[in-house]
Amino acid sequence: MILSSRLLSRFPELVHGFTTRTMPNLSTHSVMTLKQIHSSKVVIVQKQGSPSEEGDALITRQPGLLVGVRTADCVPLLVYDPGHRIVSAIHAGWRGLISGVIESTLQCLKKNFNSNFSQLQAALGPALCPGCFEIGPEVAGQFKNKFKDHLTISPGPNDRSFVDLRKGCSLILEESGIPPPSIDVVPHCTACEPELFFSYRQGDHDERMMAFIGIR
Ligand SMILES: [Zn+2]
Repeated sequence: MILSSRLLSRFPELVHGFTTRTMPNLSTHSVMTLKQIHSSKVVIVQKQGSPSEEGDALITRQPGLLVGVRTADCVPLLVYDPGHRIVSAIHAGWRGLISGVIESTLQCLKKNFNSNFSQLQAALGPALCPGCFEIGPEVAGQFKNKFKDHLTISPGPNDRSFVDLRKGCSLILEESGIPPPSIDVVPHCTACEPELFFSYRQGDHDERMMAFIGIR
């Protein structure tokens, strides 16, 4: 099964999807991916190549080329610029989110392709829900530092707390100027729904889902 975003499905020129565990891994021959390192590094892709390059976001405007990220708990984020027909796939785990992977991708879109943020369309895929993303004080401090009071950090047992990772991603997108109606959330939780998804925190250390996007 492949999930799709209602928002991105409105664009007939797009191909996109979020795979689940019930679907065999898409071959890396058909989707261009990177060696993901939880960074803010963005790579502009012009043709199908070896996935040996490191980075956590891909951008392309090449029709027929799919770009993708692999996740199991981290947030897969797909972005489309319909005016310039440019697509992007972003791997936004908490480290990437804190280090600014979303901001650097948007800046790259603006700098290289003159993207206007108010026209961008974004879809956040299956990831940990706020009740499943439990963090320690050190990570909570990093969230507090980045988001100040805009993102709720809910206290849990002992020194643990909980954060809504996708909400953090949405806040960055909104603060950059993407209107909230242009931000879609595919609401599934990778840890709460083990029949549908792989979850790193639930012990799936080798398996990943794929989020992909491309222009036909
Ligand atoms: Zn959950």
